[in-house]
Amino acid sequence: MTRDEDRSRIKIAVQKSGRLTDHSLDLLARCGLKYTKGRDQLICYGENLPIDVLLVRDDDVPGLVRDDVCDLGIVGMNVIEERRLDFAAAGDDAPFTHVRDLDFGHCRLCLAVPEQMDWNGAGDLAGRRIATSYPHIVADYLARHGLDAEVVEFSGAVEIAPRLGKADVICDLVSTGGTLRANHLREVETVLESVAALIQTPKPVSAAKAEWIERLKQRIEGVIQVSESKYIMLHAPRSALAAITRLLPGSEAPTVMPLEGRDDKVAIHAVCRENVFWETLEDLKRAGASSMLVLPVEKMMY
Ligand code: ATP
Ligand code: ZN
Repeated sequence: MTRDEDRSRIKIAVQKSGRLTDHSLDLLARCGLKYTKGRDQLICYGENLPIDVLLVRDDDVPGLVRDDVCDLGIVGMNVIEERRLDFAAAGDDAPFTHVRDLDFGHCRLCLAVPEQMDWNGAGDLAGRRIATSYPHIVADYLARHGLDAEVVEFSGAVEIAPRLGKADVICDLVSTGGTLRANHLREVETVLESVAALIQTPKPVSAAKAEWIERLKQRIEGVIQVSESKYIMLHAPRSALAAITRLLPGSEAPTVMPLEGRDDKVAIHAVCRENVFWETLEDLKRAGASSMLVLPVEKMMY
């Protein structure tokens, strides 16, 4: 039996080449997965864990998870939502399970109009032609707003549709807005806030596989928490203990320790579940803290 056929190994679908690729592979590496790339460059075989990574187009990820070719997948919510509506229209209401949002791939699916066009709200879409690569999401948006408009499907370069006379409005992904400005378009409404997410097949899996899926999910949880966490150490006057503890961002129960030979001061150690910015340190100093040290957290498990 080759590794491809081994049904006891977990397969996770990830974008082969694009904006999500490096982040996805980095996340799996930080979960402890070491892999070698197959000769066809389509599969990365896990060396130390029973987990293989399938490298595919992002649009194919939801279908592979739905059809149980892959147990897990990483893909943007924009693609997940578009495919979910597509499957629902075909009668499949539970094609995959959304496990959790990840901490990369942030963007938004927006309506944009030519700079000179008046815009008074979603009602202005009535009777217009909307160019998009997300026909199901746009149709759903129109239905929710009780609007009748024509959806023109474009597979790429949606932003040039108005100039080509193919549409009046576009609905496309935006992160900074630079592409829109370069094409003399103005963002007017957000249809969907998107981020990369982990999805899972709803089909039952063997107990051994289920255990590894659970372990991987827990490690992902830990990696994401760690990237947002810092360990902070500082000295504080006993009298300012309450005020200083309140200033520590996202920390539940700090450790308070005596300082040798000092009755008026203590050392505080705490895990902050949010980033610690210079402004926070300045606020802590004003409240009486000194000798502050902020350290990255490498691993975390609760
Ligand atoms: P593929 O060849 O895999 O189909 P693609 O061209 O559809 O690639 P990319 O441009 O690599 O996809 O984007 C992948 C995902 O990254 C998007 O679906 C979206 O979730 C996310 N993303 C984050 N920021 C942006 C952005 N500014 N523009 C487009 N997508 C973005
Ligand atoms: Zn794509």
